[in-house]
Amino acid sequence: KSKEKSGTGYHFFESEMNNRSLESIKLENALYKALDRNELDIYYQPQIDSRTNSIIGVEALLRWIHPTEGMISPADFIPIAEDTGLIVPIGEWVLENACKQLKKWHEEGNHALSVSVNLSSRQFEENDLVEVVQRILIDVNLAPEFLHLELTENQIIKNKDLTVEMMEQLKEIGVKIAIDDFGTGYSSLGYLKNFPIDALKIDKSFIQDIREDDDSNSAITNTIITLAQNLKLNVIAEGVETKEQLDFLLSKDCYLMQGYYFSVPLKAEALKEKYLI
Ligand code: C2E
Ligand code: MG
Ligand code: MG
Ligand code: MG
Repeated sequence: KSKEKSGTGYHFFESEMNNRSLESIKLENALYKALDRNELDIYYQPQIDSRTNSIIGVEALLRWIHPTEGMISPADFIPIAEDTGLIVPIGEWVLENACKQLKKWHEEGNHALSVSVNLSSRQFEENDLVEVVQRILIDVNLAPEFLHLELTENQIIKNKDLTVEMMEQLKEIGVKIAIDDFGTGYSSLGYLKNFPIDALKIDKSFIQDIREDDDSNSAITNTIITLAQNLKLNVIAEGVETKEQLDFLLSKDCYLMQGYYFSVPLKAEALKEKYLI
């Protein structure tokens, strides 16, 4: 693939572009139909209080089971859903179905369980996001404090004033808000104290580098935990895979955790079987 082969850089560029868009157009068309065809599913990953080894909540994670391609990772289709605006109806579907599932689990006796739902900045561009959330909570008859919304720093600063304003309205309704992938974004620490948030989720890249022989990533994790404690925010570690990481986090008083050490994301029935009454 050199410029010489295709004659000019222009031709090479053009054919690469066409290949790429053909692939993404195919995926895009399939994604348009995915909701109606029931190809989307929500998996749930437990969030554990490791002081008592008990489940406190679940994170809803979207899955697309494509009829011929099999399971497609959200990392591959969420960007397409965002570019096309499809994330708006899909995101609403996730919110509604995650809340319904949680309500069912509450009614079965798991009264304290919460559900965390990831939101995209694209959803904050819709004027009616707050009303949609409120409508779902009322329809499902779910107390708002059990719904936790996750947003990354980068998603907040993309359209900061509007997003913060809507976050404030969501907090007024009574839902909780967490910053996802904390530490990987571009927002300044100064913003943090003005964001209406309840929790920080330490990005898994920092957790996964916690090893006895590595001080720098442990130092970052440690700093985020201290920051959260000083700002009176909850802190959750994501991507906990080993006992060593768990012990380090516990020694720093970070006891809320999520990760393969406990469980991969599970289908609703499997999660109930393993963790709920
Ligand atoms: P996220 O919200 O940061 O979710 C955590 C991701 O880490 C999930 O990947 C989860 O399966 C994975 N994970 C959990 N524990 C471990 C661990 O111990 N080790 C490793 N290596 N990974 C772990 P997943 O399910 O592939 O989702 C990727 C991202 O896609 C999510 O990152 C989130 O940003 C986005 N996403 C998923 N569902 C939705 C959704 O309904 N709406 C929106 N807007 N985004 C979503
Ligand atoms: Mg998340
Ligand atoms: Mg994350
Ligand atoms: Mg993320």
